[in-house]
Amino acid sequence: MVATKKIDGRAHADRLTAEVAAAAATLKAESGIVPGLCAVLVGSDPGSHVYVRNKSKAALAAGVATFQENLPETASEAELLALIAKLNTDDWIDGILVQLPLPEHVDPQRIIDAIDPAKDVDGFHPRNVGQLWTGGSGLVPCTPYGCLLLLRDVLGELAGAEAVVIGRSNIAGKPMAALLLHEHCTVTLAHSQSRDLPGIVRRADIVVAAVGRPEFVKGDWLKPGAVVIDVGINRITPPGGKPKLVGDVDYAAAQGIARAITPVPGGVGPMTIACLLRNTLIAACRRRGRGHAELL
Ligand code: NAP
Repeated sequence: MVATKKIDGRAHADRLTAEVAAAAATLKAESGIVPGLCAVLVGSDPGSHVYVRNKSKAALAAGVATFQENLPETASEAELLALIAKLNTDDWIDGILVQLPLPEHVDPQRIIDAIDPAKDVDGFHPRNVGQLWTGGSGLVPCTPYGCLLLLRDVLGELAGAEAVVIGRSNIAGKPMAALLLHEHCTVTLAHSQSRDLPGIVRRADIVVAAVGRPEFVKGDWLKPGAVVIDVGINRITPPGGKPKLVGDVDYAAAQGIARAITPVPGGVGPMTIACLLRNTLIAACRRRGRGHAELL
């Protein structure tokens, strides 16, 4: 039985945001440049609006200017593409963030493909995806990069570790697998068709769960001493209780088995936002041919 460490994502994110703020202050003092992040919202999904508001608040604390473009739910793909084209050439904007999901009549990949890769702070453009897999220096997706920073902090060296990533989405699972591969882990990318998932997870020194199913990973799937990163954000209402957020891992059951685990909320979520600000600053520096060694 081990004492399981709670990985405090909020504290890590505060430290990273302070680093971004310091770098942004230096950039402003030396060149007058204030990094600018524009969020594009289509429709009135309350969750998306809350999420964008939280990002704007964090950006303010980091010295990143925020802009917001709201389009109605009925906006056509052509209107959205025209807005992206405008933002691509707007010199005040260093990062473009299109809040997903988009309405059904809009093809998200066509929109992502239209973003200038140098302003693609989500790291979803095919050029950045290619850079990630080939070891280039593109912009890296925020959620998996945040997970990697947490893992490095807990484990130090990751080389040689068995890592199991559950979920193969373009925003979480696949880029997470690429990052862990670059860290020289032996990576298994599991999904809904994987056979004997508990058996696969039991091999893992590192488990990253990005499934979108509440408390899906059970305590007895975990190898004793595993480090667990829970990407999932699921809203549930326990019988007779109040709605609450839970992750993809049964947090209570992992206690005493895992070496360390991220809580939900307060784990990966805050890191995602801090990494978005980091990407915006990196984009602002690179677009002007400036270095950003302090953030690497
Ligand atoms: P997604 O696109 O729905 O992908 C879910 C993945 O889970 C898919 O690859 C799917 O496999 C796999 N899966 C589903 N059921 C499974 C099962 N029974 N066994 C094994 N694999 C299974 O979701 P996502 O966008 O990656 O998000 C995943 C979760 O992370 C969600 O809760 C989301 O809210 C959360 N999230 C959090 C943050 C953050 O900042 N903390 C950021 C992004 C996402 P198939 O491919 O075979 O269908």
